[in-house]
Amino acid sequence: MTEAIAAPHDPKLDRLALGASLPFFLAHLLVGLVVVTGFKWEWALLALFSYYVRMFGVTAGYHRYFSHRAFKTNRGFQFFLAVLAQLSTQKGALWWAANHRHHHRYSDQPEDIHSPVRRGFWWSHVGWILSKRYDQTNYAAIKDFARFPELVWLNEHWLVLPVLALGALFAIGGLPFVVWGGILPTVLLWHGTFTINSLSHIFGKRRYVTTDTSRNNWLLALITCGEGWHNNHHYHQNTANQGWFWWEVDFTFYVLKVLSWFGVVSDLRLPRPETKFAYRSYTDEQRRQLAVESRFGALLPKPPTPTPVEMPSLGLGMPHAQR
Ligand SMILES: [Zn+2]
Ligand SMILES: [Zn+2]
Repeated sequence: MTEAIAAPHDPKLDRLALGASLPFFLAHLLVGLVVVTGFKWEWALLALFSYYVRMFGVTAGYHRYFSHRAFKTNRGFQFFLAVLAQLSTQKGALWWAANHRHHHRYSDQPEDIHSPVRRGFWWSHVGWILSKRYDQTNYAAIKDFARFPELVWLNEHWLVLPVLALGALFAIGGLPFVVWGGILPTVLLWHGTFTINSLSHIFGKRRYVTTDTSRNNWLLALITCGEGWHNNHHYHQNTANQGWFWWEVDFTFYVLKVLSWFGVVSDLRLPRPETKFAYRSYTDEQRRQLAVESRFGALLPKPPTPTPVEMPSLGLGMPHAQR
């Protein structure tokens, strides 16, 4: 068990961890098996079900519960949330939440793990996950949940659940179930989730002034069960809902609300009116700035302008080459 994220200064750690990343690339290739199995509507429905149920695990589990403690629940349902989240094959719940807390602490600053503004789209989307740098869990950042041995076990053996699930799918429906219930929706689920780290900081509208580049995007909210309201979320990160207005669709919150009626979850944190309506007191200058920042890619890094080479004023002959 490693206690800290690797030191930031070694550029070798940014390289692709080839061995560990092979299953990721292999899964993309195996999506091609849809050609072998052919198409049936019931398989497409299975894919949709597999995608959205596990997306709920990602959003309610990995994100809103383990990363942000946006609601409370009992130990049994906490374990169930970790299981459901980890069936998405995005590593352990403690690994995921520790990295995500780091993202909020340093959003779009040089220390940010996956900022598209700092390191470009591909790094923020998949590069950081496939690199050697962040493959260990920073347990110091997730002490509150690391005290539960069952969560630590799941975190350390995160591959067990996805492998068991694939075995179960094969036993029930053979290759078509493995492809349509497992591989295809898992690859889509990866990229659906990763859009929040990449596209939600590039494409969408900014309602609130934040120190990062987070945006609100309805399309990403539909794909991710409500996570696309990312500017709301960065403005106030601990709420159980991320869609704060009736038109901001947030399926994760709707399910959590229903679960709260049955006492499965409780204390759903909501934004206070002064938080939600903070934009009403913005100055004209702040509104103008937000409108400019809301343009596509407005906050992406510009290519560096070359600094003019200083020529020695009294030098004789050619200056030495700059190294
Ligand atoms: Zn973010
Ligand atoms: Zn978050």
